Amino acid sequence: MNEFEAIARFFKPLSREGAGIRTGIGDDGAVLQAPRDRELVIATDTIVSGIHFPADFPPGAVGHRALAVNLSDLVAMGADPAWYTLALALPQIRTSWLAAFARGLDGLARKAHIHLVGGDTVRSPVLTATITVVGTVPKGQALLRSGARPGDRIFVSGILGLATQGLALWQDGQRHSHRLRPFLHPEPRLPWIPILRSVARAAIDVSDGFAQDLGHLLEASQVGATVDLDRIPRDRRDPDSLKRALFGGDDYELCFTVPSARLSVFRARARRARLTFFEVGRVIPGKGICWQKSDGSPSPEIKGSGFDHFAKPEMRR
Ligand code: ADP
Ligand code: MG
Repeated sequence: MNEFEAIARFFKPLSREGAGIRTGIGDDGAVLQAPRDRELVIATDTIVSGIHFPADFPPGAVGHRALAVNLSDLVAMGADPAWYTLALALPQIRTSWLAAFARGLDGLARKAHIHLVGGDTVRSPVLTATITVVGTVPKGQALLRSGARPGDRIFVSGILGLATQGLALWQDGQRHSHRLRPFLHPEPRLPWIPILRSVARAAIDVSDGFAQDLGHLLEASQVGATVDLDRIPRDRRDPDSLKRALFGGDDYELCFTVPSARLSVFRARARRARLTFFEVGRVIPGKGICWQKSDGSPSPEIKGSGFDHFAKPEMRR
């Protein structure tokens, strides 16, 4: 099978009619109709075999992950998913691998109502998948990292550190534990999109560790925070859970701030949508994170950093 047959067989079917697509896969570029009164939000993420996922990862999980990490960025912007492109670099064309990859990808794309409109397929010694997602928001309503203000409460959308826990199990040779799931199938928090847009003041997705990602949000907003270590949602059965929750990557939960005047509306809407959330701290004037304990006892020293591609010489996976 050559490049063109692979595109026609595995990727063309993922491009569905409608949804503002004038011309999708098959021409030199896609022609898209942006909805009236909306702005476009665009994000790109690449995943590389051996860096972002183990070389022996199931192909369906690679397809799912490539889109999940991108959708997570759209969610954090409060944007509704619309279209995406896929640039795939592969050592060889193996039909069984491509079929499973495309199934993993399309399973999530259908859930998110996002449509494939183009891409590129090339040969490379290392498998990489780059996805660019396009979402839309009503004009002026995109949620930024820079909107947090002193007095806002800080929330996270789920338990942190489970992806790194799953990675450790995978590296230990486990292939069937249900605790692998957060690592194999990160779920972008799509149902939060309309709620965040209407109640949150700032948001970021937690991809490189909570401490680092909250730090980015605070820096962009030019504020500081107090965070209660006892409220960080984590798996307490795991002796490494605090370290994993604060510094582990790949959780794809959301961290966002809500002004106190909107707290009751926020809680009501999140509960009605059956979404879990945890209040972990408060925004304060100043800089950096002040870690605290619920009972006021001194916090252990919090030292470490999240994931940085160029900080560590060793491979991530
Ligand atoms: P060009 O030579 O103009 O770059 P290609 O031969 O790379 O065109 O691609 C042909 C068509 O197939 C284009 O519309 C392109 O967007 C689409 N395409 C190529 N690879 C993929 C892919 N992996 N997923 C989706 N669409 C793809
Ligand atoms: Mg091309």
